[in-house]
Amino acid sequence: MSNYLLSKTSYIKGLQCQKALFFYRHHPQLRDPIPPARQATFNRGHEVGNLARHLFPGGKDATEKIDGKTAKPVERTQELIAAGINVIYEAAFIFDEVLVLVDILVRDGEKWKAFEVKSSLRLSKSYYQDAALQYYVLSNAGLTISDFSLVHLNSDYVLSGALDLNKLFLFVSILKFAKEKLPSIIENITSHKIVLKGKDIPEVAIGEQCFSPYECDYRGQCWKHLPIGSVFELTGVNRAEQARLFNAGYTTTNLVPETEALPLLARLQVLTSESNEVVCDKEKIKIFLETLSATILFLDIENFQPAIPKYQGTKPFAALPFAYSIHERKSNGDLIYRSFLAEPGTDPRLEFIQRFLDDTQGNAIILVYDVTAERMSINLLRQQFPNYAIQLDQRMKRLRDLMQPFQQGWYHHPKMKGSISLKSVLPALVPELNYNSLAIQNGSHAMAIYEKLEDVDLFARAEKITELEAYCHLDTLAMVRVFEVLEKSIA
Ligand code: SF4
Repeated sequence: MSNYLLSKTSYIKGLQCQKALFFYRHHPQLRDPIPPARQATFNRGHEVGNLARHLFPGGKDATEKIDGKTAKPVERTQELIAAGINVIYEAAFIFDEVLVLVDILVRDGEKWKAFEVKSSLRLSKSYYQDAALQYYVLSNAGLTISDFSLVHLNSDYVLSGALDLNKLFLFVSILKFAKEKLPSIIENITSHKIVLKGKDIPEVAIGEQCFSPYECDYRGQCWKHLPIGSVFELTGVNRAEQARLFNAGYTTTNLVPETEALPLLARLQVLTSESNEVVCDKEKIKIFLETLSATILFLDIENFQPAIPKYQGTKPFAALPFAYSIHERKSNGDLIYRSFLAEPGTDPRLEFIQRFLDDTQGNAIILVYDVTAERMSINLLRQQFPNYAIQLDQRMKRLRDLMQPFQQGWYHHPKMKGSISLKSVLPALVPELNYNSLAIQNGSHAMAIYEKLEDVDLFARAEKITELEAYCHLDTLAMVRVFEVLEKSIA
């Protein structure tokens, strides 16, 4: 399979940026480490892809090793076709120095139907381009394609009884699109090949394309010359606008003039990067703190979002709460800690509700960080378990948002650099407390770890549970400490 220059991945990469294409092929060592959340997305893609094979059962996998020998998918695909196999998974073809592996290829009389599976609820432009490239290769590699479809998850599907694959997946034919795109595909392939056969790294300035349609894997390389505090760090300003400011010579945030219209947090970022002083509206913070009760429950809920619905009444990617942590702060400042982590592999919802209601009894204010997320989690449970609606409503009425003073710009520390995420606010306000020493440092990683727990051995599971508990504990302790800084700010 060495006589190819391009693949689906490298073709799409080249459409995003030909410098990225060059790095991908010639300097793979420059690639940034894959973040855990993105790895989880890859894993999810495999899981959904494997499930979709059951739509066309009984097929042969062209990438499977035979007798322990290295697979030769292109040759194997031809053997399977010649042997009269009707369904081939990962069918591989090369044409015009482009290799494609089609997720599912199904014989349709003298012709073939092709299916590309996507583990998403919506289809992006890149998916169409990827499928159109495959159509180009297939239809020139000796196959007559009667149809080519993208297969993706149905956002309206609700699990009721056994999983119904014919309702879980939606099919969208891209045949017309692929035929229309043939001239531009040939043009793109030619252009990509010139780049790859050249000796020099293409000269491409950093810009909006570094994030669109995907965050580029080579930012560590291309962006290393950027100064600390570059305009690409401006919060709430889109990438195109950041690139415009950068190319206009405002390379760092402190250089952006007042005449440039910026969102509130970005303006605060610029202001505090110049002054290096904290912005603090004592009056507003005082009013905010006065709305809270003497005893406060600091709450954080962690969700996971299985692509394939696991539990009755849930949809693909439905948020399912699997853990919470609560620091109860008494009026004298004493802290009591309570937490819950669902047994991996079980439906967490009912036990979550019961434990959550037990642990949040009374009338104390429940302080969360980003109330939208917590409200959504509780509301989903309320809809799925209406018997608990009254009690869950009572908890929702007690919710207040610790993010509000930061979101409204009442408090801004220069080290927050415009970001109001707790992961930015904590090290700025409470530098002695941070996530750096933890194995799990953000919610996406926590979710990815939890989803894998049921597949690991008991020793690894115990270790990961300890890491998850440490992360959840810090999340609400961080809120308590940040809250205390706000209290002191008005003293
Ligand atoms: S970081 Fe930007 S400029 Fe560099 S290769 Fe990626 S997309 Fe191209």
